[in-house]
This record gives sequence, C-alpha cells and structure tokens, in this order.
Amino acid sequence: MISLRTQREIEKIGDAAKISAQALKVAGERCKVGVSTWEIDQAVRKFIVSQGAEPNFLHYQGFPASACISVNDAVIHGIPSKDIVLKEGDIVSVDTGAVYNGYHGDNAFTFKVGKVSENASKLLDVTEKALYAGVEQAVVGNRIGDISHAIEKTVLPGGYGIVREFVGHGVGENLHEEPEIPNFGRPGRGPRLMAGMVLAIEPMINESGDEVVHLPDGWTIKTANGKLSAHFEHTIVVTNNGPVILTKV
Ligand code: MG
Repeated sequence: MISLRTQREIEKIGDAAKISAQALKVAGERCKVGVSTWEIDQAVRKFIVSQGAEPNFLHYQGFPASACISVNDAVIHGIPSKDIVLKEGDIVSVDTGAVYNGYHGDNAFTFKVGKVSENASKLLDVTEKALYAGVEQAVVGNRIGDISHAIEKTVLPGGYGIVREFVGHGVGENLHEEPEIPNFGRPGRGPRLMAGMVLAIEPMINESGDEVVHLPDGWTIKTANGKLSAHFEHTIVVTNNGPVILTKV
C-alpha cells in the first residue's frame, strides 16, 4: 500500500528531509583533494546528531556508517573509509538521510573533486537532469511509469547505462516504502500518483552499461565495466499544485 500523507505528516517528513539536505551540503563542502571518505562521514554524522536527529543509514541492515559514499566507479552504498582519500578529478556520490521525530528524509548528490574530466562532467549533468525530469512527472493523475520513463528518456540518447537492480522508493516512517520507482519504464504504467505521496526519486546512471557488481564488503555496488557512475536523489511530495522537493537546504 502506498501511504497518502496528511499535511502534518508531510511537515514532519519535511523536517527530516531538510536535515538530510543540510547534511548533504556538509558532505559536499568536504569533497576536496586529500580528504578521506571517513572524514566526510564523521562530519555528516556530527551534523545530523547536532540537529537532534539520527543518521538513518547507520546500522540500517547492518550498514556501518552514517552516509553512503561511492567514488568514481562505485555506484551506491560505498562504505566510508580512512583508506579512500579523494584525488583531483574524482566524482563522489554521497547519500545522506536523517530520521527525525519518527520520519525519514533521503537524498543524494554526486560531487566533483577539483576539475573532473569532460566525460564525468557530462555524466553528472545528465543524471541531475534526469532527476528533475522525473520529479516534473510526479503530478497527480500521472503514474509511476511516467517518472521512470522521463528518467530513461533523458539518459538513453547519450548512450548511458541505467542501473536496474536499485530503484527509487516511497519515504515516511520507514526509509524504504512502497512504491518502487525504477529509473526506466513505460509511460502510463504502474501505480497512479495521488496528492500526499512522498517519494524518493533517484536515478543511478553509468557512463556506459547497465551491469553492476556487488563487492565482497557486502555493501559497495560498482559498475561491472569499471566506468563512472552518478547518483542524484530528492525526496518529494506529490501535491495538487505539482511536485514539491522536500530535500532542499
Ligand atoms: Mg533512496
């Protein structure tokens, strides 16, 4: 069942989403040459806790950190580490979420470290564009497939790969709720969108190829061909006046 949220619930999710977005900003400010992903994770955790919230990824199904930090060919769920030190030209996908007063927020952004290659820059642009194309379709009367298709349509002409194993999702009292929101699909298919649905839309796009591999650490997902991957995500609410992004600073 897909929850339809009351105004009060939307405000609560909005509070958690705002903390999540601010945490992502904190992470982005630290994506610099010489900084380890462990240091970024520490800053994210400290910030979220300072807001009276909790990092929702910490201990989620045993995840050992507060943020997922995935560098270059890592797609998602990268475990922060003192051994992963950022270098000029890296791209860093950071996923942060907070739970506050029982409600969750979730968002992600791929940051550049210094000057990145033209390929990397284009990948980031198209993935972010795909996110907003998806958000634009989150209107009353549309279906989940319209969001999925808008994302697919944005990236396919460039020859990019779409990660198929992982998808967007509903957000509320739980980090992951119904419905699933694939980043590919046919328009006019899937559940109909109604006012009060809160959704995390999150394209995960590869430089080429859809295939991913699971690392033996049990978490990190990388592209199978070693190409770069990008990840942008917002938590939004469907309203009678169109989609509203909740993960805004
Ligand atoms: Mg998510």
